[in-house]
Amino acid sequence: MARMATETERPGSRTGGVSRANVSSPSSWGLGDGAAIPWEYAPAPESRDVVTIKDRYGLFIGGKDVAASDGQTFITINPATEEPLAQVARATAADMDKAVRAARTAFRKSWGSMAGRERAKYLFRIARILQERSREFAVLESMDSGKPIKESRDVDVPLAAAHFWYYAGWADKLEYAFPGRVAKPLGVAAQIIPWNFPLLMLAWKVAPALAAGNTVVLKPASTTPLSALLFADVCRQADLPPGVVNIVPGPGEVGMALVTNPGVDKVAFTGSTDIGKKIAKGVAGTNKALTLELGGKAANIVFDDAPLDQAVEGIVNGIYFNQGEVCCAGSRLLAQESIVEPLIEKLKDRLATIRVGDPLDKNTDVGAINSRQQLEKITELVEAGKAEGADFYQPACDLPDRGYFFRPTLFTNVAQSHRIAKEEIFGPVLSVLTFRTPDEAVEKANNTPYGLSAGIWTDKGSRILHMVKRMKAGVVWANTFNRFDPTSPFGGYKESGFGREGGMHGLHAYVRLEDR
Ligand code: NDP
Repeated sequence: MARMATETERPGSRTGGVSRANVSSPSSWGLGDGAAIPWEYAPAPESRDVVTIKDRYGLFIGGKDVAASDGQTFITINPATEEPLAQVARATAADMDKAVRAARTAFRKSWGSMAGRERAKYLFRIARILQERSREFAVLESMDSGKPIKESRDVDVPLAAAHFWYYAGWADKLEYAFPGRVAKPLGVAAQIIPWNFPLLMLAWKVAPALAAGNTVVLKPASTTPLSALLFADVCRQADLPPGVVNIVPGPGEVGMALVTNPGVDKVAFTGSTDIGKKIAKGVAGTNKALTLELGGKAANIVFDDAPLDQAVEGIVNGIYFNQGEVCCAGSRLLAQESIVEPLIEKLKDRLATIRVGDPLDKNTDVGAINSRQQLEKITELVEAGKAEGADFYQPACDLPDRGYFFRPTLFTNVAQSHRIAKEEIFGPVLSVLTFRTPDEAVEKANNTPYGLSAGIWTDKGSRILHMVKRMKAGVVWANTFNRFDPTSPFGGYKESGFGREGGMHGLHAYVRLEDR
């Protein structure tokens, strides 16, 4: 068993960890308690050479690379090393206006009236180029965001391409998607995306918008602009007409200037609930369509008849995937009281095998937290969890000397009133609560202002159906977690937002339906 972290070890601190070679083995490996693992993983770094990062990036407006109107730039850094990666033009409100005009011109002159089968060709081309350049995108995404290369390589980039493939298929079939109605594009879509899945969130938003005939102005998050700017290069390579896609990195206030720009017809936002509410106010009283994909505090419910080893994998995937920086993360584990002890034993054994470190190492499971600010937020909430009396556990592991890293963390004996049970931590921190009956599980799972996702682990199909009907969550996974597919709608209830992305529902969010 890995040892308990002591009080002298600050969560996320670099002291007190032991090297993997010294960690004693979990009993479940059959080596016997206390037997040392006699080997260490060799480093398996992905090469940085597959991507050329420019020193400076401009805004991508009207198909051109342009400087900000006031010439200002900002620096994006690698959160795993704290080294600067590039200087990026910092858009102003005037630049947002310029981008909206470029998008409007492209909508009027070409894209809005182009036959669906022609639009489809561009989307297919973009999908193919994303696949051809997938290693380049994966390495860049891991460097700019801190996520492990095995996730950017196997999840983010392939899923981004899959969204373009999927929506390319709909571009010439809108009359089948909405039978008996005529689907018209809305016009110019303003899209604001977060830093946890930069390329994937771009694809979730850009692909359905373009398939339906809209043009786009997209603002990436300030800590992760680079994959969106590389996507600008893909648009050029695909010969997309200028102005159909515009990429304008800039600070939050400038994002609000985009939202309130009168030339915008549709706003799509993914990010925090606080900013989502501001955006809702910003579009109130206008005719703009709005979709909001906001935070979450998902319950992952494990019943006593669940296959525990599988459930442990699902729990780990649910909360430690992408450092827990996932809106639908299974951050509250609800374990049936009769199995909580063996479940936590198995979970602690599994945590001892999680590798935290260099995002570009192919063996890394948990990479760097996206920013210092986010690391501070996680640390603050973990301290609150300890102060409120929950039992704190971290596996022993070394952290790199530089960069924003945080050990996988587990809190047991958590009460519903604790901040770590209520607030979105957006980090690798799991809070464990217990329940006795299905009704109690439902009540506790729904006891949150959020309603984005949930998970259920049980052997009984009837129990899955019973639970799913009662859960106030947009997505409920059964005996799995964090599964995404472009054909499947995703979105929330309550403070997790409204509207759906993915599938035909995601297409619906970008069209106006008229009678024939
Ligand atoms: P934000 O909601 O601030 O950021 C998301 C996007 O919104 C970014 O592009 C950001 O730009 C932009 N933005 C910020 N302020 C405004 C504004 N006033 N008007 C328009 N756009 C704006 O999230 P944070 O990065 O601050 O993260 C804070 C917390 O939010 C996290 O700890 C997490 O709990 C939650 N979160 C949830 C996400 C989700 O997927 N549901 C994703 C990200 C965060 P910029 O980057 O320039 O600030």
